[in-house]
Amino acid sequence: MEKKRIVVALGGNALGKTATEQRDIVRESAKPIVDLIEQGHEVVITHGNGPQVGIIKLAFDTSDLPEMPFPECGAMSQGYIGYHLQQAVRDELNARGIYRPVVSLITQSIVDKNDPAFKNPTKPVGLFYSKEEADKIAAETGWVFMEDAGRGYRRVVPSPRPQEIVEGDVIPPLLEAGVIVINAGGGGIPVLREGDQLVGVDAVIDKDFGALCEADQLDADFLVILTEVDKVAINFNKPNEKWLDKCTVDEMKQYLEEGHFSAGSMLPKVEACIAFAEKDPKRTSLITSLEKAGDGIKGLTGTQIRL
Ligand code: ADP
Ligand code: MG
Repeated sequence: MEKKRIVVALGGNALGKTATEQRDIVRESAKPIVDLIEQGHEVVITHGNGPQVGIIKLAFDTSDLPEMPFPECGAMSQGYIGYHLQQAVRDELNARGIYRPVVSLITQSIVDKNDPAFKNPTKPVGLFYSKEEADKIAAETGWVFMEDAGRGYRRVVPSPRPQEIVEGDVIPPLLEAGVIVINAGGGGIPVLREGDQLVGVDAVIDKDFGALCEADQLDADFLVILTEVDKVAINFNKPNEKWLDKCTVDEMKQYLEEGHFSAGSMLPKVEACIAFAEKDPKRTSLITSLEKAGDGIKGLTGTQIRL
């Protein structure tokens, strides 16, 4: 295949719950990504941080330490996940005899203070709880909990849309220099423009929209969203469940209107994939699992969305 510019977004929920789990999973995740690099593609890596940012926040909230706001926790999660990723990708490249610099960037994303998301939290973060546990914590803390795609209850926070990746301009020259860039972790740290200054805001961007913003800014050929499922389904978890292969933007819009995708999990992925693919017929959006990334890019599996 000719050289493509590929934005790969790794799901935070597939990265495990502890540092050792994450390190081991990321070592595996690096392999399909390095396959793409080895094939000569330009690869930009981004990742989710829902579970990780939630756990970091919870660690501070349940300690005697001073308050640690969400944007700072987001920055920590970019360092925590970026560190594992850059180490794993570098080691995997070296193991194959390829030398390329790999770097993670602390990245901010501009959001709008009038974004309706601030009035309607939808983004699940941190651990999963039973309904009883969630109700108890909600009563004690005022946090909002929601059921997350049949997997249990989780705290939800506002998830505004990123409008621009502040550090976006630095990426193309790095790519040209052969650097593998990890950035916009957790969709970027949400910041508001206040006059000449950027100010962090309490929210967690969905990495699917961060990846879209990034792929748009870089005019990528592929937006690849890697998650826990091999494909997107309609009638998900129902007896008439059907896994989708190749779809047009219009077909996907139809399924979306019919309500097949859960808010906070599959919906943002599908929305991001539609928005990416509908701008240009050269573009392909792909949703698949980590294990299937290589085959997915070749068009052999996953759910592919094109104009
Ligand atoms: P990530 O961390 O990769 O963003 P999410 O949990 O946000 O992962 O989203 C992926 C999850 O979405 C899947 O693991 C699945 O449980 C859920 N999901 C909800 N609706 C669908 C659907 N229609 N098809 C497939 N998966 C779905
Ligand atoms: Mg998600």
